[in-house]
Amino acid sequence: QPELSGDFGTLMGWADEVRRLKVRANAETPLDAKTAREFGAEGIGLCRTEHMFFDAERITNVRQMILAEDEAGRRAALAKLLPEQRSDFVQLFEVMAGLPVTIRLLDPPLHEFLPHEEAEFAEVASAAGVDIDTLKRRAAELHEFNPMLGHRGCRLGVTYPEIYEMQARAIFEAAIEVAEKSGAAPIPEVMIPLVGTRRELELMKIVVDQAAQAVFADKGRTIEYLVGTMIELPRAALMAGEIAEVGEFFSFGTNDLTQTTLGVSRDDAARFLGVYVEKGIYAKDPFVSLDVEGVGQLIELAAERGRKTRAGIKLGICGEHGGDPASIAFCEQTGLDYVSASPYRVPIARLAAAQAALAARG
Ligand code: PEP
Ligand code: MG
Repeated sequence: QPELSGDFGTLMGWADEVRRLKVRANAETPLDAKTAREFGAEGIGLCRTEHMFFDAERITNVRQMILAEDEAGRRAALAKLLPEQRSDFVQLFEVMAGLPVTIRLLDPPLHEFLPHEEAEFAEVASAAGVDIDTLKRRAAELHEFNPMLGHRGCRLGVTYPEIYEMQARAIFEAAIEVAEKSGAAPIPEVMIPLVGTRRELELMKIVVDQAAQAVFADKGRTIEYLVGTMIELPRAALMAGEIAEVGEFFSFGTNDLTQTTLGVSRDDAARFLGVYVEKGIYAKDPFVSLDVEGVGQLIELAAERGRKTRAGIKLGICGEHGGDPASIAFCEQTGLDYVSASPYRVPIARLAAAQAALAARG
């Protein structure tokens, strides 16, 4: 593994000798993954797949898929997306060389995938062989008043399982391709977003497991993988005992968990949070530094309930808080297994994890 050099590298080495928490990175491009490894990331804790879908070459097919009126239409568009999605994961697995990679299945606010401009509708119309008026009617049907509380995360997978099926197929095909090429079998951890109930996760796990079995049968070999979930809704934290019957790991999505617990929009909070901090209502910006008193209680409770059902369940955090020293101290106290931070915050996380471990020793 590439290592940081000089005094900085020495300091990081000392930190690594004392820390207990593993440090992963949030990364979705090979470049981010490479940067993360250079800074010492021990895996990818969150690969968001939405951005891959925004790629200029792909967005028309993605729009065609979202606007299709039936499953056959969606499958036609998904078939065009599969090879590129497979190549996304091949590249990531190659850079990560056998380290764990948590891939989150699609979690978009749906409106971001809808065409708006006339020219965008025209492109989809020609790709799909459908007239523009039909597409506009369909886009109007998909309009949401509150997309962040709408048809997002696993809700999309529940309604259109073929999307998650394509992504799971791409993950397993890529993992086998890299295992055969390099000899280092990737360890994919397939993560389902915005789960609130055990049944949602169960339905999505069936889709992933079936895709795995189909690929393994096609290729004549298997690889190990896990299926787990984000815990980013208060209901998921409360129901963690049941959810852990299905989920093989939990990753706390503290961006959404903060938003949904505080009832504060993560995209609009900047308008008043400064005043709130000034007036002492919040000690710090809760989207930067974990609200240990409130959101923290939900994490503790979910960890406890999850462990009761599944002893030793792997627990991590992948919200922005995973790169914040005070939040990392909380993760140490709660006994999480890893934090996942943006690549450039990985060294800070390694240091903070070491400080937290030393503090725990007393
Ligand atoms: C989160 O909600 O904390 C999370 C990591 O997911 P995203 O930021 O992509 O919603
Ligand atoms: Mg989220």
